[in-house]
Amino acid sequence: HAKVRGKNQYQFYTEDLMQAARRRMRLENGLRAALVQNDFDLVFQPIVDLKTGLVQGAEALLRLELDNGEAVSPDEFIPIAEQTGLISEISKWMCEKVFRTLSDWSRQGISVPDITINLSGRDIQGDFASVHLAALARQHGVNPDNVTLELTEGVLMDNQSAALETLSDLRKLGFGIAIDDFGSGFSSLAYMRMYPITTIKIDRSFLQNMDKDAADIIILQAIIDLSNRLGLRVICEGVETPEQATRLAEYGCSYGQGFYYHRPMHPTDFISLITAQNKNQK
Ligand code: C2E
Ligand code: MG
Ligand code: MG
Ligand code: MG
Repeated sequence: HAKVRGKNQYQFYTEDLMQAARRRMRLENGLRAALVQNDFDLVFQPIVDLKTGLVQGAEALLRLELDNGEAVSPDEFIPIAEQTGLISEISKWMCEKVFRTLSDWSRQGISVPDITINLSGRDIQGDFASVHLAALARQHGVNPDNVTLELTEGVLMDNQSAALETLSDLRKLGFGIAIDDFGSGFSSLAYMRMYPITTIKIDRSFLQNMDKDAADIIILQAIIDLSNRLGLRVICEGVETPEQATRLAEYGCSYGQGFYYHRPMHPTDFISLITAQNKNQK
């Protein structure tokens, strides 16, 4: 409503605000209800070896469905969970669900691949990551060596000293530590040294710009090269085409994740995939 002026504009403005506030309230209620009713969903998106196309691990991702059946993206509800403080309980729900799933699989004799879980800034500021996470893993008999925790650059930037201590402790217990969406914000090479990082997940924006932006390709290659030299595991996110996969492999990137390979899927589908793969390899 660019041309609306004066009182009308004010009216539109408040209507937008009210609509946004209603939406937030709806999502906040949806989050609370999902916690009470144990009604979130866990999906896994496979991470594949770019040379062989074989599934090497997976990222655990959270799903929320409102009572009217609408599926809400975590990009929309995670910020609200963070602002309301609900994130702590949600992270606990998520980690517990993942650990329980992993221990079920191992009881069924399925060799469990590497799983990554997203954590928020609040999780490493508070006592969730420093106290409860390790206890939760132990309780479910999960080996932290098989679990990598993903954090975005912003989290590392905001909480330097708290993050450093917590992440060092988690690393000593065996958890892997990944920088998520690397290159999308104020990426700092210093983070690679300051924190006990094991994995770099390169933001999917690099692939989106691959054909348009020569500088982006040079930066992408440099990130891959640097990560390899530092002995870090490199995963490129958002692989959507076979061309992208081929080029990433040429650049020396070991792992990829994206719709070209697999979309996020329910745990049972993920296990079918792993089981079929293991059979073929024998
Ligand atoms: P992320 O950690 O960077 O996760 C990758 C996101 O990219 C996922 O979106 C995934 O579905 C999407 N994706 C994967 N491959 C492709 C592709 O080829 N093309 C495109 N366009 N997208 C692709 P999703 O599941 O909607 O999650 C969005 C974000 O929400 C995640 O980004 C993560 O930051 C956050 N999130 C998800 N689950 C959790 C959770 O349990 N806890 C926390 N704290 N954050 C979570
Ligand atoms: Mg992630
Ligand atoms: Mg990411
Ligand atoms: Mg993201």
